[in-house]
Amino acid sequence: MENLRSMETAIVLSVTGLRKQYGGVLAVDDVSFEVRRKEIVGLLGPNGAGKTTTISMILGVLEPTAGGIRIEGSDLATNRSHALERTNFAAAYTPLPGNLTVAQNLRIFGLLYGVRNLAERIDTLLRQFDLEGFRDVKCGALSSGEQTRVSLAKAMLNAPNLLLLDEPTASLDPATARDIRARIREFAAEGHTGVLWTSHNMYEVEEVCDRVLFLSHGKILLAGDPRQLPSDYGKDNLEELFITVAREPLTLEQA
Ligand code: ATP
Repeated sequence: MENLRSMETAIVLSVTGLRKQYGGVLAVDDVSFEVRRKEIVGLLGPNGAGKTTTISMILGVLEPTAGGIRIEGSDLATNRSHALERTNFAAAYTPLPGNLTVAQNLRIFGLLYGVRNLAERIDTLLRQFDLEGFRDVKCGALSSGEQTRVSLAKAMLNAPNLLLLDEPTASLDPATARDIRARIREFAAEGHTGVLWTSHNMYEVEEVCDRVLFLSHGKILLAGDPRQLPSDYGKDNLEELFITVAREPLTLEQA
């Protein structure tokens, strides 16, 4: 009983039977999965598989056609503000207001999230994301990699229990991407956060994710440990497995 309770409290995100239909397109088709505390789960799939649609529903930006989403036990449909106050995200397609400086942006989002000791929190994040030199620079004047780092700092402002990252390292150079992956891993290891991470970089996914979900045409086709799955299906690496799932899913056979 005690074990069951601790397993339940470990669940940060629970998605059940999620569907999204855009006119005649079924973008997400009966998707169910969980993300636990300390876990980094990779949401993988080819272009158009339904990753961003899934993340947008979890963020409450898109309404599901069917299915349920619970964040920290709160139902997103009926207890929206409670579900979302412990959530945050970063995505390249949602840049921060470009006419505000880095510090102004972090301050405004910090106030929106009701972050305590905000000035101190901003100082810590500027240091962790190597942004101290950009504190008073307008976000619109930053390079795309610098903007990504500000978005990640913003995503951690409220120390969220659920962190959604849509291709967080896509615009970063390899050295910065490695530092950022390490920072996010440390953040997850601190113990109260679960991370859902989309990426097209299979090397990164193998390095960072504890578990992956392969999405194709809106359905989860495979799930498991990214370091174990390739050999389970007779493939040399995750990239080969990804290409097979994307192009010839019917040929997949467990080795
Ligand atoms: P990518 O890797 O290219 O970002 P994705 O896995 O995030 O792809 P989605 O953006 O979720 O894929 O799109 C899933 C499907 O839904 C695609 O077929 C897309 O064309 C369709 N779609 C997405 N948004 C809309 C919309 N607003 N109206 C109609 N169809 C949409």
